[in-house]
Amino acid sequence: MQSFLEQLRTLVGADAVVEGEALAARASSYWDPAPLRALALVRPRTSAEVSAVLKLCHQHGQSVVTHGGLTGCVDGAVVNERDLVLSLERMTAIEDIDTVGRTATVQAGAVLQTVQDAVAEFGLLFPLDLGARGSCTIGGNVATNAGGISVIRYGMMRELVLGLEAVLADGTVISSLNTMLKNNAGYDLKQLFIGTEGTLGVVTRVVLKLKEAPVSVNTALVALTSFEAVCDLLKSLERTLGGNLSAFEVMWGAYFHAVTEPGWHRPPMSRDHAYYVVLEARGADARADNLQFMTALEQVLEDGMVEDAIIPKSVAERDALWSIREDFEAITAHDPTFLYDVSLPIRHMASYVDEVKSRLQQQWPAGRCYVLGHIGDGNLHLFVSPGEGDRNLHPLADEAVYQPLMPLGGSVSAEHGIGLEKKSWLELSRSTGELALMRLLKRTLDPQTLLNPGKVFDV
Ligand SMILES: Cc1cc2nc3c(=O)[nH]c(=O)nc-3n(C[C@H](O)[C@H](O)[C@H](O)COP(=O)(O)OP(=O)(O)OC[C@H]3O[C@@H](n4cnc5c(N)ncnc54)[C@H](O)[C@@H]3O)c2cc1C
Repeated sequence: MQSFLEQLRTLVGADAVVEGEALAARASSYWDPAPLRALALVRPRTSAEVSAVLKLCHQHGQSVVTHGGLTGCVDGAVVNERDLVLSLERMTAIEDIDTVGRTATVQAGAVLQTVQDAVAEFGLLFPLDLGARGSCTIGGNVATNAGGISVIRYGMMRELVLGLEAVLADGTVISSLNTMLKNNAGYDLKQLFIGTEGTLGVVTRVVLKLKEAPVSVNTALVALTSFEAVCDLLKSLERTLGGNLSAFEVMWGAYFHAVTEPGWHRPPMSRDHAYYVVLEARGADARADNLQFMTALEQVLEDGMVEDAIIPKSVAERDALWSIREDFEAITAHDPTFLYDVSLPIRHMASYVDEVKSRLQQQWPAGRCYVLGHIGDGNLHLFVSPGEGDRNLHPLADEAVYQPLMPLGGSVSAEHGIGLEKKSWLELSRSTGELALMRLLKRTLDPQTLLNPGKVFDV
């Protein structure tokens, strides 16, 4: 009788199974350079191979954790030494770009930026965009229902997926590769796999919704004195830019100050403002859009809503502005630094941040809290550095960040998911009925709890 691994090699070929030193040579994730430790890693090439692998795992009661680009922020792809890793790294094909229907059909291992670039060659835009674009995969974006910097205009991944194919725990392939905007024929089954973090199936192929690529891109960095002014600016631009506003990324002063310390990003304006916003508008008429953007900015400067503004004069300058928002290595270089992703109504954000900072201050007087966010989406990110080198402080920081969300009707996860990291906090954001239905779905689709076991909630 062949062992499980021998049968696996027979199914997909020895070169598709990575073990031993070759496995340990891989990092655990983007965030954790420790060697990857698992039973083995399998790299199927097709949905049929994924199906065969899962069928075999089902027969053997073998647990499976799916890996995309490993950029997820909540320990959702963590494995133990008994798990099999199923990596989508060889399933990267862009199978079809329909320029008339404006869809792209891609394998789930395709890297987000590769897809963005491929459709751009046809004058099209795949609007999901986030800092990890060069490493994260479309399958990972689906599994986490990723958000990012363009949600304010185009929505989260859920809004950008028309159809998908997934393989269930027993190897059954569910092909739901719908390409139309409208399709109300029964249940919309793709939703079972969007944002469920690989616990209900392995996503193998995805039909993405595309847009016509914008002709104009206007960007600015502005500085403001109060959070009230930030909210006023958002409302004003939503009105004056006529739907062209595509990014509105807010940085609290301390964040801007930290990432522009000497040796990190060059500060393009004074580092002493209370708030900064990177804003961007995209449209279809370069001249008119430029005029509209400049007029809108002049207006908010004249009104005193905005204290200072910088408009990049080249692509390099624009990239430099964006890197202040997206590259936070100056902050994560301090170990430990805990990253949070929460959502709450905009009107409570300023007082919420004050409350979290005061709780942290009481606990760790030398600690730091840096805040930024996609506030138009009700989404804040916080980096908490206790100022003491101990990773065991994480649960204490969790309490300071999550507990004040509850009276405000906030959520412990806006766009990163739950994974392992937020599992013990899930019940603060979901009702007993919701949790019971989640468990029922899991038990029905994966009765042996083989897919990404232990993530999101305990069955
Ligand atoms: C610098 C940086 C910036 C980021 N910015 C943002 C941001 O703005 N917005 C945001 O939402 N996220 C952001 N993230 C988080 C991360 O990029 C997203 O969660 C992304 O969608 C994860 O994709 P991935 O391919 O890396 O998935 P992985 O990390 O490999 O996996 C994430 C989860 O999805 C599951 N999974 C992966 N592929 C599949 C599949 N094919 N089928 C089923 N399950 C699967 C895994 O098991 C795991 O549970 C950022 C991360 C970094 C490092």
